[in-house]
Amino acid sequence: MSSKVRVRFAPSPTGPLHVGGLRTALFNYLFAKQHGGAFILRIEDTDQKRYVPGAEAYIIDSLDWCHIPADESPKKPGQFGPYRQSERREIYGKWVKTLVDNGSAYFAFDTNEELDKLRKDQESLGQTFIYNFSNRGVLCNSLTLTKEDIQIRMNSGQPYVIRFKAPQDRTLEMTDMIRGSIAIDCNTLDDKILFKSDGMPTYHLANVVDDHLMEITHVIRGEEWLPSMALHILLYEAFGWKKPEFAHLPLILKPSGNGKLSKRDGNKLGFPVFPLDWDSNDSITKGFKGAGYLPEALLNFLGLLGWNPGTDQEIFNLDEMARNFSIGGVNKGGARFDIEKLNWFNQQYLAQMPLDELLLNIRLRYPSLSNVSDGLLTKILTLTQERLAFVDDFWSVANYFFEAPSDFNENAFARAVKADTSSIIESIRKIVETQDDCSPEALQLVIKEWIVSQNIGFGIVMQPLRLALVGDLKGPDVFEIMSLLGKEEVCSRLARFQDRL
Ligand code: GLU
Repeated sequence: MSSKVRVRFAPSPTGPLHVGGLRTALFNYLFAKQHGGAFILRIEDTDQKRYVPGAEAYIIDSLDWCHIPADESPKKPGQFGPYRQSERREIYGKWVKTLVDNGSAYFAFDTNEELDKLRKDQESLGQTFIYNFSNRGVLCNSLTLTKEDIQIRMNSGQPYVIRFKAPQDRTLEMTDMIRGSIAIDCNTLDDKILFKSDGMPTYHLANVVDDHLMEITHVIRGEEWLPSMALHILLYEAFGWKKPEFAHLPLILKPSGNGKLSKRDGNKLGFPVFPLDWDSNDSITKGFKGAGYLPEALLNFLGLLGWNPGTDQEIFNLDEMARNFSIGGVNKGGARFDIEKLNWFNQQYLAQMPLDELLLNIRLRYPSLSNVSDGLLTKILTLTQERLAFVDDFWSVANYFFEAPSDFNENAFARAVKADTSSIIESIRKIVETQDDCSPEALQLVIKEWIVSQNIGFGIVMQPLRLALVGDLKGPDVFEIMSLLGKEEVCSRLARFQDRL
Protein backbone atom coordinates (compact mmCIF):
# COMPACT_ATOMS: atom_id res chain seq x y z
CA MET A 1 0.00 0.00 0.00
CA SER A 2 1.25 3.48 -0.82
CA SER A 3 1.91 5.81 2.09
CA LYS A 4 0.43 8.77 0.27
CA VAL A 5 -2.51 10.42 2.00
CA ARG A 6 -5.74 9.58 0.22
CA VAL A 7 -9.09 10.88 1.45
CA ARG A 8 -12.52 10.63 -0.01
CA PHE A 9 -15.82 12.42 -0.06
CA ALA A 10 -18.48 9.75 -0.50
CA PRO A 11 -21.93 11.30 -0.91
CA SER A 12 -25.07 9.39 -1.83
CA PRO A 13 -26.81 11.00 -4.81
CA THR A 14 -30.15 11.32 -3.06
CA GLY A 15 -30.69 15.02 -3.76
CA PRO A 16 -28.78 18.29 -3.79
CA LEU A 17 -25.59 18.50 -1.77
CA HIS A 18 -26.27 20.04 1.62
CA VAL A 19 -23.97 22.67 3.08
CA GLY A 20 -22.89 20.09 5.71
CA GLY A 21 -21.78 17.76 2.93
CA LEU A 22 -19.95 20.61 1.27
CA ARG A 23 -18.07 21.28 4.51
CA THR A 24 -17.13 17.58 4.72
CA ALA A 25 -15.83 17.80 1.15
CA LEU A 26 -13.88 20.96 2.03
CA PHE A 27 -12.22 19.42 5.11
CA ASN A 28 -11.23 16.38 3.07
CA TYR A 29 -9.87 18.65 0.36
CA LEU A 30 -7.88 20.72 2.87
CA PHE A 31 -6.46 17.64 4.53
CA ALA A 32 -5.42 16.16 1.18
CA LYS A 33 -3.79 19.38 -0.05
CA GLN A 34 -1.98 19.89 3.22
CA HIS A 35 -0.42 16.45 3.00
CA GLY A 36 0.24 16.53 -0.73
CA GLY A 37 -2.35 13.78 -0.98
CA ALA A 38 -5.32 12.97 -3.17
CA PHE A 39 -8.96 13.94 -2.74
CA ILE A 40 -11.33 11.38 -4.17
CA LEU A 41 -15.01 11.66 -4.97
CA ARG A 42 -16.88 8.36 -4.74
CA ILE A 43 -20.58 8.21 -5.50
CA GLU A 44 -22.35 5.86 -3.07
CA ASP A 45 -25.39 4.96 -5.11
CA THR A 46 -26.18 1.42 -3.94
CA ASP A 47 -29.59 2.41 -2.60
CA GLN A 48 -31.56 2.49 -5.83
CA LYS A 49 -34.77 3.53 -4.06
CA ARG A 50 -33.22 6.79 -2.92
CA TYR A 51 -31.37 7.53 -6.16
CA VAL A 52 -32.18 10.96 -7.59
CA PRO A 53 -31.21 11.62 -11.22
CA GLY A 54 -29.11 14.75 -11.59
CA ALA A 55 -27.76 14.60 -8.03
CA GLU A 56 -24.33 13.30 -9.05
CA ALA A 57 -23.86 16.04 -11.66
CA TYR A 58 -25.04 18.56 -9.06
CA ILE A 59 -22.42 17.36 -6.56
CA ILE A 60 -19.63 17.58 -9.14
CA ASP A 61 -20.78 21.01 -10.34
CA SER A 62 -20.90 22.23 -6.74
CA LEU A 63 -17.32 21.14 -6.05
CA ASP A 64 -16.22 22.77 -9.31
CA TRP A 65 -18.00 26.01 -8.43
CA CYS A 66 -16.19 26.02 -5.09
CA HIS A 67 -12.85 25.31 -6.78
CA ILE A 68 -12.38 22.11 -4.80
CA PRO A 69 -12.58 19.55 -7.60
CA ALA A 70 -11.70 15.95 -6.81
CA ASP A 71 -8.43 14.50 -8.07
CA GLU A 72 -10.25 11.27 -8.90
CA SER A 73 -13.99 10.98 -9.55
CA PRO A 74 -16.48 9.39 -11.95
CA LYS A 75 -15.74 12.36 -14.23
CA LYS A 76 -11.97 12.06 -13.84
CA PRO A 77 -11.20 8.40 -13.18
CA GLY A 78 -7.84 7.45 -11.72
CA GLN A 79 -6.45 3.95 -11.30
CA PHE A 80 -8.90 2.96 -8.53
CA GLY A 81 -12.17 3.08 -10.50
CA PRO A 82 -14.98 2.72 -11.08
CA TYR A 83 -15.90 5.61 -8.78
CA ARG A 84 -19.62 4.84 -8.71
CA GLN A 85 -20.62 2.01 -6.39
CA SER A 86 -23.40 0.88 -8.72
CA GLU A 87 -20.63 -0.05 -11.17
CA ARG A 88 -18.72 -2.11 -8.59
CA ARG A 89 -21.35 -4.72 -7.71
CA GLU A 90 -19.26 -7.81 -8.51
CA ILE A 91 -16.49 -6.55 -6.27
CA TYR A 92 -18.75 -6.51 -3.20
CA GLY A 93 -20.18 -9.95 -3.97
CA LYS A 94 -16.69 -11.38 -4.07
CA TRP A 95 -15.55 -9.77 -0.85
CA VAL A 96 -18.62 -10.59 1.20
CA LYS A 97 -18.07 -14.22 0.28
CA THR A 98 -14.66 -14.13 1.94
CA LEU A 99 -16.36 -13.01 5.15
CA VAL A 100 -18.82 -15.89 4.97
CA ASP A 101 -15.95 -18.28 4.25
CA ASN A 102 -13.89 -17.09 7.20
CA GLY A 103 -16.87 -17.24 9.57
CA SER A 104 -17.30 -13.49 10.03
CA ALA A 105 -20.63 -13.37 8.24
CA TYR A 106 -23.55 -15.69 7.62
CA PHE A 107 -26.63 -16.11 5.44
CA ALA A 108 -29.96 -15.27 7.06
CA PHE A 109 -33.29 -16.43 5.63
CA ASP A 110 -35.63 -14.85 8.18
CA THR A 111 -38.51 -13.15 6.40
CA ASN A 112 -39.55 -9.57 7.10
CA GLU A 113 -42.82 -10.88 8.59
CA GLU A 114 -40.96 -13.17 10.98
CA LEU A 115 -38.64 -10.38 12.07
CA ASP A 116 -41.53 -7.91 12.45
CA LYS A 117 -43.34 -10.38 14.69
CA LEU A 118 -40.25 -10.85 16.86
CA ARG A 119 -39.82 -7.09 17.06
CA LYS A 120 -43.42 -6.60 18.17
CA ASP A 121 -43.25 -9.44 20.70
CA GLN A 122 -40.15 -7.90 22.26
CA GLU A 123 -41.71 -4.44 22.25
CA SER A 124 -44.78 -5.75 24.06
CA LEU A 125 -42.38 -6.87 26.79
CA GLY A 126 -40.84 -3.42 26.85
CA GLN A 127 -37.65 -4.68 25.17
CA THR A 128 -35.91 -3.95 21.88
CA PHE A 129 -35.25 -6.70 19.39
CA ILE A 130 -31.61 -6.92 18.30
CA TYR A 131 -30.45 -9.62 15.89
CA ASN A 132 -27.19 -10.63 17.55
CA PHE A 133 -25.33 -13.23 19.64
CA SER A 134 -28.30 -13.57 21.99
CA ASN A 135 -30.67 -14.98 19.38
CA ARG A 136 -28.81 -15.74 16.15
CA GLY A 137 -28.48 -19.35 17.38
CA VAL A 138 -32.25 -19.85 17.22
CA LEU A 139 -33.11 -17.78 14.14
CA CYS A 140 -33.28 -18.92 10.52
CA ASN A 141 -29.72 -18.62 9.26
CA SER A 142 -26.71 -20.57 8.09
CA LEU A 143 -25.53 -20.95 11.69
CA THR A 144 -28.63 -22.94 12.60
CA LEU A 145 -29.62 -24.66 9.34
CA THR A 146 -27.95 -27.73 7.89
CA LYS A 147 -25.82 -27.44 4.76
CA GLU A 148 -28.49 -29.34 2.79
CA ASP A 149 -31.28 -27.09 4.00
CA ILE A 150 -29.32 -23.99 3.06
CA GLN A 151 -28.66 -25.40 -0.40
CA ILE A 152 -32.31 -26.26 -0.95
CA ARG A 153 -33.42 -22.78 0.08
CA MET A 154 -30.87 -21.15 -2.20
CA ASN A 155 -31.69 -23.42 -5.13
CA SER A 156 -35.39 -22.61 -4.77
CA GLY A 157 -34.56 -18.90 -4.92
CA GLN A 158 -35.58 -18.11 -1.35
CA PRO A 159 -34.43 -14.57 -0.56
CA TYR A 160 -31.64 -14.17 1.95
CA VAL A 161 -29.35 -11.51 3.31
CA ILE A 162 -25.79 -11.74 4.58
CA ARG A 163 -25.24 -10.54 8.13
CA PHE A 164 -22.08 -9.63 9.97
CA LYS A 165 -21.43 -11.76 13.04
CA ALA A 166 -20.77 -9.08 15.64
CA PRO A 167 -18.43 -10.24 18.42
CA GLN A 168 -19.71 -11.13 21.87
CA ASP A 169 -18.35 -9.97 25.24
CA ARG A 170 -15.75 -7.68 23.81
CA THR A 171 -14.97 -4.03 24.39
CA LEU A 172 -13.78 -2.41 21.19
CA GLU A 173 -11.28 0.40 21.75
CA MET A 174 -11.29 2.91 18.92
CA THR A 175 -9.60 6.23 18.23
CA ASP A 176 -11.15 9.16 16.46
CA MET A 177 -8.78 11.95 15.42
CA ILE A 178 -11.20 14.56 16.76
CA ARG A 179 -12.86 12.74 19.64
CA GLY A 180 -9.93 10.72 20.98
CA SER A 181 -10.53 7.24 22.46
CA ILE A 182 -13.94 5.69 22.31
CA ALA A 183 -14.84 2.32 23.82
CA ILE A 184 -17.82 0.30 22.61
CA ASP A 185 -19.39 -2.73 24.26
CA CYS A 186 -19.84 -5.08 21.29
CA ASN A 187 -22.83 -6.72 22.95
CA THR A 188 -24.82 -3.59 22.07
CA LEU A 189 -24.16 -4.10 18.35
CA ASP A 190 -26.54 -5.93 16.05
CA ASP A 191 -25.57 -8.32 13.29
CA LYS A 192 -25.84 -5.70 10.56
CA ILE A 193 -26.88 -6.70 7.07
CA LEU A 194 -23.93 -6.46 4.69
CA PHE A 195 -25.59 -7.78 1.59
CA LYS A 196 -29.24 -7.34 0.74
CA SER A 197 -31.63 -9.82 -0.84
CA ASP A 198 -31.64 -7.71 -4.04
CA GLY A 199 -27.98 -8.56 -4.56
CA MET A 200 -26.77 -5.11 -3.55
CA PRO A 201 -24.33 -4.43 -0.74
CA THR A 202 -25.39 -2.18 2.12
CA TYR A 203 -23.60 1.10 2.77
CA HIS A 204 -21.38 -0.52 5.42
CA LEU A 205 -19.92 -3.25 3.26
CA ALA A 206 -19.51 -1.16 0.11
CA ASN A 207 -18.00 1.72 2.06
CA VAL A 208 -15.37 -0.39 3.82
CA VAL A 209 -14.48 -2.47 0.76
CA ASP A 210 -14.09 0.65 -1.35
CA ASP A 211 -12.11 2.58 1.23
CA HIS A 212 -9.72 -0.36 1.37
CA LEU A 213 -9.46 -0.94 -2.38
CA MET A 214 -9.13 2.78 -3.07
CA GLU A 215 -6.33 2.91 -0.49
CA ILE A 216 -8.05 5.55 1.61
CA THR A 217 -5.80 6.50 4.51
CA HIS A 218 -8.13 8.85 6.42
CA VAL A 219 -11.91 8.70 6.66
CA ILE A 220 -13.14 12.23 7.36
CA ARG A 221 -16.93 12.41 7.51
CA GLY A 222 -19.89 13.82 9.42
CA GLU A 223 -20.70 12.99 13.01
CA GLU A 224 -23.83 11.12 11.92
CA TRP A 225 -21.52 8.26 10.85
CA LEU A 226 -19.87 7.90 14.24
CA PRO A 227 -22.26 5.08 15.27
CA SER A 228 -21.05 3.11 12.20
CA MET A 229 -17.40 3.36 13.15
CA ALA A 230 -17.37 0.24 15.37
CA LEU A 231 -18.85 -1.96 12.66
CA HIS A 232 -16.45 -0.55 10.09
CA ILE A 233 -13.45 -1.25 12.30
CA LEU A 234 -14.71 -4.77 12.95
CA LEU A 235 -15.09 -5.27 9.21
CA TYR A 236 -11.48 -4.21 8.60
CA GLU A 237 -10.45 -6.73 11.22
CA ALA A 238 -12.60 -9.46 9.71
CA PHE A 239 -11.05 -8.88 6.30
CA GLY A 240 -7.58 -8.71 7.84
CA TRP A 241 -7.04 -5.24 6.37
CA LYS A 242 -5.22 -2.26 7.82
CA LYS A 243 -7.83 0.24 8.89
CA PRO A 244 -7.70 3.94 8.00
CA GLU A 245 -7.69 6.74 10.56
CA PHE A 246 -11.13 8.14 11.36
CA ALA A 247 -12.28 11.70 12.01
CA HIS A 248 -15.94 12.55 12.60
CA LEU A 249 -16.72 16.22 12.03
CA PRO A 250 -19.07 18.10 14.35
CA LEU A 251 -22.65 18.77 13.31
CA ILE A 252 -23.68 22.04 11.74
CA LEU A 253 -26.44 23.50 13.89
CA LYS A 254 -29.34 25.79 13.04
CA PRO A 255 -28.69 29.52 13.65
CA SER A 256 -30.59 29.20 16.94
CA GLY A 257 -28.17 26.48 18.04
CA ASN A 258 -31.11 24.10 18.50
CA GLY A 259 -30.68 21.00 16.41
CA LYS A 260 -28.99 20.08 13.20
CA LEU A 261 -29.30 22.32 10.14
CA SER A 262 -31.35 20.17 7.80
CA LYS A 263 -32.02 20.18 4.08
CA ARG A 264 -35.50 21.52 4.74
CA ASP A 265 -34.23 24.48 6.77
CA GLY A 266 -33.34 26.41 3.62
CA ASN A 267 -36.98 27.06 2.86
CA LYS A 268 -37.88 27.70 6.49
CA LEU A 269 -35.07 29.96 7.63
CA GLY A 270 -34.84 32.21 4.58
CA PHE A 271 -31.31 31.44 3.43
CA PRO A 272 -29.87 28.78 1.14
CA VAL A 273 -28.49 25.47 2.38
CA PHE A 274 -27.41 24.19 -1.04
CA PRO A 275 -24.45 25.46 -3.06
CA LEU A 276 -26.27 25.76 -6.41
CA ASP A 277 -29.88 26.16 -7.45
CA TRP A 278 -31.72 22.85 -7.33
CA ASP A 279 -34.42 22.25 -9.86
CA SER A 280 -36.99 19.62 -8.95
CA ASN A 281 -40.62 19.12 -9.93
CA ASP A 282 -40.76 22.54 -11.53
CA SER A 283 -39.72 24.31 -8.37
CA ILE A 284 -36.28 25.78 -7.99
CA THR A 285 -34.63 25.96 -4.60
CA LYS A 286 -32.12 28.77 -4.55
CA GLY A 287 -28.54 27.90 -3.79
CA PHE A 288 -25.76 30.10 -2.43
CA LYS A 289 -24.54 30.87 -5.94
CA GLY A 290 -27.95 32.06 -7.12
CA ALA A 291 -28.36 34.08 -3.92
CA GLY A 292 -25.20 36.03 -4.73
CA TYR A 293 -22.63 34.39 -2.46
CA LEU A 294 -19.06 34.04 -3.67
CA PRO A 295 -17.61 30.53 -3.45
CA GLU A 296 -14.49 31.90 -1.71
CA ALA A 297 -16.62 33.50 1.00
CA LEU A 298 -18.73 30.39 1.46
CA LEU A 299 -15.65 28.17 1.80
CA ASN A 300 -13.93 30.53 4.21
CA PHE A 301 -17.07 30.56 6.33
CA LEU A 302 -17.49 26.77 6.16
CA GLY A 303 -13.83 26.26 6.97
CA LEU A 304 -14.30 28.06 10.26
CA LEU A 305 -17.49 26.15 11.00
CA GLY A 306 -15.98 23.59 13.32
CA TRP A 307 -12.29 24.34 12.76
CA ASN A 308 -10.51 26.73 15.07
CA PRO A 309 -7.29 28.09 13.53
CA GLY A 310 -6.01 29.00 17.00
CA THR A 311 -5.53 32.70 16.11
CA ASP A 312 -7.84 35.67 15.50
CA GLN A 313 -7.37 35.44 11.76
CA GLU A 314 -10.67 35.02 9.98
CA ILE A 315 -9.97 35.62 6.31
CA PHE A 316 -8.33 32.56 4.78
CA ASN A 317 -8.16 31.86 1.10
CA LEU A 318 -8.18 28.21 0.12
CA ASP A 319 -4.39 27.86 0.00
CA GLU A 320 -3.95 29.54 3.36
CA MET A 321 -6.65 27.37 4.83
CA ALA A 322 -4.95 24.24 3.52
CA ARG A 323 -1.62 25.37 5.00
CA ASN A 324 -3.11 26.16 8.41
CA PHE A 325 -5.73 23.46 8.68
CA SER A 326 -5.33 20.73 11.24
CA ILE A 327 -7.73 18.01 12.33
CA GLY A 328 -6.54 18.68 15.89
CA GLY A 329 -8.08 22.17 15.58
CA VAL A 330 -11.52 20.77 14.78
CA ASN A 331 -14.00 21.05 17.66
CA LYS A 332 -16.09 18.19 18.98
CA GLY A 333 -19.16 20.30 19.65
CA GLY A 334 -21.64 21.37 16.98
CA ALA A 335 -21.01 24.58 15.05
CA ARG A 336 -23.81 27.12 14.74
CA PHE A 337 -24.60 28.25 11.20
CA ASP A 338 -24.64 32.04 11.47
CA ILE A 339 -25.87 33.50 8.19
CA GLU A 340 -24.93 37.03 9.29
CA LYS A 341 -21.34 35.89 9.57
CA LEU A 342 -21.48 34.41 6.08
CA ASN A 343 -22.86 37.73 4.79
CA TRP A 344 -19.92 39.45 6.45
CA PHE A 345 -17.48 37.10 4.70
CA ASN A 346 -19.21 37.81 1.41
CA GLN A 347 -18.79 41.53 1.96
CA GLN A 348 -15.11 41.05 2.81
CA TYR A 349 -14.49 39.03 -0.35
CA LEU A 350 -16.44 41.47 -2.54
CA ALA A 351 -14.40 44.30 -1.07
CA GLN A 352 -11.20 42.45 -2.07
CA MET A 353 -12.36 41.61 -5.57
CA PRO A 354 -10.27 43.18 -8.34
CA LEU A 355 -12.22 46.08 -9.86
CA ASP A 356 -12.28 44.63 -13.37
CA GLU A 357 -13.83 41.43 -12.04
CA LEU A 358 -16.37 43.35 -9.99
CA LEU A 359 -17.18 45.46 -13.04
CA LEU A 360 -17.88 42.30 -15.01
CA ASN A 361 -20.21 41.03 -12.29
CA ILE A 362 -22.07 44.34 -12.18
CA ARG A 363 -22.39 44.38 -15.97
CA LEU A 364 -23.88 40.87 -15.90
CA ARG A 365 -26.29 41.71 -13.13
CA TYR A 366 -27.33 45.16 -14.41
CA PRO A 367 -27.67 45.11 -18.20
CA SER A 368 -29.65 48.37 -17.90
CA LEU A 369 -26.37 50.14 -17.11
CA SER A 370 -24.95 49.34 -20.55
CA ASN A 371 -24.93 53.03 -21.48
CA VAL A 372 -22.68 53.87 -18.51
CA SER A 373 -19.02 53.81 -19.54
CA ASP A 374 -16.55 51.37 -18.00
CA GLY A 375 -14.56 54.35 -16.74
CA LEU A 376 -17.46 55.91 -14.85
CA LEU A 377 -18.75 52.61 -13.52
CA THR A 378 -15.27 51.73 -12.28
CA LYS A 379 -15.01 55.07 -10.46
CA ILE A 380 -18.40 54.51 -8.85
CA LEU A 381 -17.32 51.02 -7.84
CA THR A 382 -14.14 52.37 -6.28
CA LEU A 383 -16.31 54.51 -4.02
CA THR A 384 -18.95 51.90 -3.20
CA GLN A 385 -17.20 48.52 -3.34
CA GLU A 386 -16.73 48.13 0.39
CA ARG A 387 -20.42 48.85 1.01
CA LEU A 388 -21.54 45.83 -0.99
CA ALA A 389 -22.30 42.57 0.80
CA PHE A 390 -23.72 41.25 -2.49
CA VAL A 391 -23.44 42.32 -6.11
CA ASP A 392 -27.21 42.71 -5.83
CA ASP A 393 -26.75 45.49 -3.29
CA PHE A 394 -25.21 47.73 -5.92
CA TRP A 395 -28.41 49.48 -6.92
CA SER A 396 -29.50 50.33 -3.41
CA VAL A 397 -25.98 51.45 -2.53
CA ALA A 398 -25.25 53.46 -5.70
CA ASN A 399 -28.54 54.38 -7.39
CA TYR A 400 -28.04 58.10 -6.80
CA PHE A 401 -25.09 58.10 -9.17
CA PHE A 402 -27.50 57.31 -11.98
CA GLU A 403 -30.71 59.10 -11.06
CA ALA A 404 -31.61 62.03 -8.86
CA PRO A 405 -33.20 60.96 -5.58
CA SER A 406 -36.97 60.93 -5.96
CA ASP A 407 -37.44 61.07 -2.21
CA PHE A 408 -35.51 62.16 0.84
CA ASN A 409 -35.20 59.99 3.89
CA GLU A 410 -37.59 61.50 6.42
CA ASN A 411 -35.41 61.10 9.49
CA ALA A 412 -32.38 62.39 7.63
CA PHE A 413 -34.42 65.35 6.42
CA ALA A 414 -35.55 66.19 9.93
CA ARG A 415 -31.97 65.99 11.15
CA ALA A 416 -30.23 67.87 8.36
CA VAL A 417 -32.63 70.64 7.47
CA LYS A 418 -32.46 73.85 9.53
CA ALA A 419 -33.91 77.33 9.12
CA ASP A 420 -31.00 78.57 7.02
CA THR A 421 -30.58 75.44 4.87
CA SER A 422 -32.19 76.96 1.80
CA SER A 423 -29.86 79.93 1.68
CA ILE A 424 -26.83 77.70 2.35
CA ILE A 425 -27.77 75.37 -0.52
CA GLU A 426 -28.31 78.43 -2.71
CA SER A 427 -24.79 79.63 -1.96
CA ILE A 428 -23.26 76.21 -2.62
CA ARG A 429 -25.13 75.99 -5.91
CA LYS A 430 -23.69 79.34 -6.98
CA ILE A 431 -20.17 78.29 -6.02
CA VAL A 432 -20.46 75.08 -8.02
CA GLU A 433 -21.99 76.87 -10.99
CA THR A 434 -18.99 79.14 -11.33
CA GLN A 435 -16.44 76.43 -10.56
CA ASP A 436 -14.31 75.32 -13.50
CA ASP A 437 -12.27 72.62 -11.82
CA CYS A 438 -14.75 70.04 -10.57
CA SER A 439 -12.24 67.59 -9.17
CA PRO A 440 -13.10 66.38 -5.66
CA GLU A 441 -10.07 68.25 -4.28
CA ALA A 442 -10.98 71.57 -5.93
CA LEU A 443 -14.61 71.31 -4.84
CA GLN A 444 -13.56 70.49 -1.33
CA LEU A 445 -11.24 73.46 -1.23
CA VAL A 446 -13.77 76.08 -2.37
CA ILE A 447 -16.63 74.77 -0.31
CA LYS A 448 -14.56 74.47 2.84
CA GLU A 449 -13.15 77.94 2.31
CA TRP A 450 -16.65 79.28 2.01
CA ILE A 451 -17.79 77.50 5.18
CA VAL A 452 -14.86 78.93 7.10
CA SER A 453 -15.56 82.39 5.71
CA GLN A 454 -19.15 82.15 6.93
CA ASN A 455 -18.05 81.03 10.35
CA ILE A 456 -20.60 78.21 10.42
CA GLY A 457 -20.30 74.55 11.33
CA PHE A 458 -19.38 72.00 8.67
CA GLY A 459 -22.34 69.76 9.49
CA ILE A 460 -24.79 72.58 8.83
CA VAL A 461 -23.59 72.60 5.22
CA MET A 462 -22.42 69.08 4.53
CA GLN A 463 -25.48 67.24 5.80
CA PRO A 464 -28.10 69.00 3.65
CA LEU A 465 -25.67 68.94 0.74
CA ARG A 466 -25.36 65.16 0.99
CA LEU A 467 -29.10 64.79 1.47
CA ALA A 468 -29.80 66.85 -1.64
CA LEU A 469 -27.48 64.71 -3.77
CA VAL A 470 -28.05 61.26 -2.31
CA GLY A 471 -31.51 61.44 -0.73
CA ASP A 472 -30.03 60.21 2.53
CA LEU A 473 -27.16 60.89 4.90
CA LYS A 474 -25.18 57.85 3.77
CA GLY A 475 -22.66 57.28 1.03
CA PRO A 476 -18.99 57.95 0.32
CA ASP A 477 -17.21 61.31 0.36
CA VAL A 478 -19.57 64.09 -0.82
CA PHE A 479 -16.92 65.79 -2.94
CA GLU A 480 -16.22 62.55 -4.76
CA ILE A 481 -19.94 62.17 -5.41
CA MET A 482 -20.20 65.76 -6.67
CA SER A 483 -17.27 65.33 -8.96
CA LEU A 484 -18.69 62.17 -10.51
CA LEU A 485 -22.16 63.64 -10.92
CA GLY A 486 -20.77 66.72 -12.66
CA LYS A 487 -21.55 70.37 -12.27
CA GLU A 488 -24.87 70.43 -14.10
CA GLU A 489 -26.38 67.48 -12.30
CA VAL A 490 -25.23 68.76 -8.91
CA CYS A 491 -26.78 72.17 -9.56
CA SER A 492 -30.01 70.65 -10.77
CA ARG A 493 -30.27 68.42 -7.67
CA LEU A 494 -29.55 71.34 -5.39
CA ALA A 495 -32.29 73.38 -7.08
CA ARG A 496 -34.78 70.52 -6.76
CA PHE A 497 -33.88 70.15 -3.11
CA GLN A 498 -34.47 73.85 -2.53
CA ASP A 499 -37.94 73.43 -4.02
CA ARG A 500 -38.68 70.82 -1.40
CA LEU A 501 -37.61 73.01 1.49
N1 GLU B 1 -22.58 7.65 1.63
C1 GLU B 1 -22.39 8.22 2.91
C2 GLU B 1 -23.02 9.59 2.91
O1 GLU B 1 -23.97 9.77 2.21
C3 GLU B 1 -20.92 8.26 3.20
C4 GLU B 1 -20.54 8.30 4.63
C5 GLU B 1 -19.04 8.11 4.76
O2 GLU B 1 -18.32 9.05 4.40
O3 GLU B 1 -18.62 7.04 5.13
O4 GLU B 1 -22.64 10.53 3.54
